[in-house]
Amino acid sequence: MTNTAFLQDLIAALPLPTLVIDRAERVAALNPAAEVLVGARAVGRNFVTVLRQPVLVDAVERCLEDATPRHAKFVLGDVGNDVTYDVTLKTVTGAGLLMVSFQDITHKAQAGQMRRDFVANVSHELRTPLTSLMGFIETLSGPARDDAAARDRFLGIMQTEAGRMNRLVGDLLSLSRVEAEERVRPTGQVNLTGVLQTTLRNLNPLAIEADVRLRPVFGAEPLPILGDADQLLQVFTNLVENAIKYGGKGKPVDILCETSLRDPALRAPGVRITILDHGPGIDQHHIPRLTERFYRADNHRSRALGGTGLGLAIVKHILNRHRGRLKITSELGQGASFCVILPLDVVAT
Ligand code: ADP
Repeated sequence: MTNTAFLQDLIAALPLPTLVIDRAERVAALNPAAEVLVGARAVGRNFVTVLRQPVLVDAVERCLEDATPRHAKFVLGDVGNDVTYDVTLKTVTGAGLLMVSFQDITHKAQAGQMRRDFVANVSHELRTPLTSLMGFIETLSGPARDDAAARDRFLGIMQTEAGRMNRLVGDLLSLSRVEAEERVRPTGQVNLTGVLQTTLRNLNPLAIEADVRLRPVFGAEPLPILGDADQLLQVFTNLVENAIKYGGKGKPVDILCETSLRDPALRAPGVRITILDHGPGIDQHHIPRLTERFYRADNHRSRALGGTGLGLAIVKHILNRHRGRLKITSELGQGASFCVILPLDVVAT
């Protein structure tokens, strides 16, 4: 077996896409996984025409010069659909070869991007009320110091803005707690009927204030599920509160409940709780993104109503933990329907 054939066989056994560059700066061998990345028929060609991306080419040139191990980035795909590789460059001392192996780190890169976006979003959400508070503090300690009427008005606004920050921090804490527990299956025996009744009782004052009638369309019989009662209360509170907020004055909100021995979405016994409002509804293109953090279909309305943009993200994580689903359907002008599907605890029924 020639050296080249041996080399080819050797790297073919490696799981990572790998290629080898020789002293003459040509590709000496590459395995099938690397062919997928840089194309076939690379053997014998100069590495610059094979690897092409300047960052990687530059790193290879420097390694060939000083034999120091390095890492470089290699990105494939279209914008928004990138696959990112961490490329390890290592000289095989003695043989005068440079081993180039690619590791897909797309998930890590995406997680990093999400973290950066999240921090930027949180900072932006906090900055708006904070700027407003700072402005009013300045006005109150200067020009409006002795103006009693202005003072009362400004204090009112400051209270609203402080409340907005407080809700945001509260929702962020809930979200991080819920995310941390997402993989831990809940084990509590919960009666869903009780949770729904508590939700409606708690939100009744808000509904009265908004001139909204809550119409429960479910019986009193217990609905046993395995769950976390506090988190489920939060799910229905967020959904019913949204229906009251966005459904609009004078419009009713219906809360329906339906069980089945084989729910089509779960392929198991399940219960569907639907919160139905008769408000302006949501445009189709927003629906798939509503459970993203800080995503708002109607930015102005959400902010005016004191929304944090986190309510549905919290709902989604809690339902994931309960192996449940959320189905949102709506048509503009026809109201919105938020359907929670949860597995029933058949052992307890
Ligand atoms: P927010 O705090 O803004 O209400 P959510 O995560 O609870 O945040 O909801 C995300 C967005 O979904 C809202 O900003 C709103 O635009 C839209 N939305 C939620 N529920 C309804 C509803 N019942 N009717 C119309 N739009 C809704």
